[in-house]
Amino acid sequence: MENIYNITVENLTAYLEQLGAKKYHAEEMFRWLYEKKVKDFKEMTNIKKEIIKSIEEDFTLGEIKTVNVERDKLTNKYLFELADKEHVEAVLMRHDYGNSICVSSQVGCNMGCKFCESGRRKKVRNLKTGEMVEQILKVEEDLKERISHVVVMGIGEPFDNYENLTEFIRIINDKKGLQIGSRHITVSTCGIIPKIEEFSSFPYQVNLAISLHAPNDDLRTKLMPINKVYPLNKLIDALKKYSEKTSRRLTFEYILLKDINDTEECAKQLADLIQKMNAYVNLIPYNPTENLEFLRSEPFQIMKFYDILKKNHVNVTIRREFGSKISAACGQLRSKKEDL
Ligand code: SAH
Repeated sequence: MENIYNITVENLTAYLEQLGAKKYHAEEMFRWLYEKKVKDFKEMTNIKKEIIKSIEEDFTLGEIKTVNVERDKLTNKYLFELADKEHVEAVLMRHDYGNSICVSSQVGCNMGCKFCESGRRKKVRNLKTGEMVEQILKVEEDLKERISHVVVMGIGEPFDNYENLTEFIRIINDKKGLQIGSRHITVSTCGIIPKIEEFSSFPYQVNLAISLHAPNDDLRTKLMPINKVYPLNKLIDALKKYSEKTSRRLTFEYILLKDINDTEECAKQLADLIQKMNAYVNLIPYNPTENLEFLRSEPFQIMKFYDILKKNHVNVTIRREFGSKISAACGQLRSKKEDL
């Protein structure tokens, strides 16, 4: 049995054709699944009984369960249980431009970034496509509102789960599916170069965010072990090529860690590193965690860093904060539960 939410409309068409059903049935089914959000295949009343029967034999209608929701004014945090009893989380953020969800892509993570809570547990497995899709469905169901923006910035490294990630994007972007515009979808990576290259041929205008966090190799390797494999000069080269080829939006994420990467020297190095690139920098105030020793930069230091970048003609913004009260901040997902 396979989860029906793993399947793109093209693959569903192929499946139905082999049952002798018409092509448009796949599109009809997508509407039942994603617009009407049926809870039972039998609710798909305009689809023939025999076809429903085969579908019931071959597919499950979802595999994840919401087991906890923490609510704050602008943020909700959802804890999901997967079929094998593993847990992942998603965070809803209410913006003035719409509802945005941060989804997880793996159970655990192997990237080992020193400041990140999610990486304290090694990767157990990749999330399947449907398990990512369902995080959106569950949150929409809870809100009774549409989700318009998706960021893949929850637990896991999406480019370490590339096939399922790209299938996920196809499904949520589908006109018959959730209709989330590709420019409203952002994938965040720690910088896995071969996948950045591959992603440049993926035919959707999605946004790419790079977790940079340091402007030189020494510091970046200390904070993010992946930098040993894909050092900065190679990463920047790959991103320049990606930018030229796709003209898609590129963002550098830079968490400010007190006295570690928030110095004036670092700001100048960062400006040099990404000079003339068609990208902008998102400065992220660090969310201190219970387990690790990093501290958030002082506000004046954040402003100083920001000013230096501005003066050097870098497009820069400071991330608005969401969810630090309910530990819904980046990198804090799930670890609280594990400690219980
Ligand atoms: N693996 C991907 C996506 C998940 S992490 C990536 O590395 O981009 C999403 C973002 O949250 C990354 O930029 C990560 O570095 C950041 N992050 C992790 N822990 C954080 C913390 N405590 N405070 C602020 N941002 C954090």
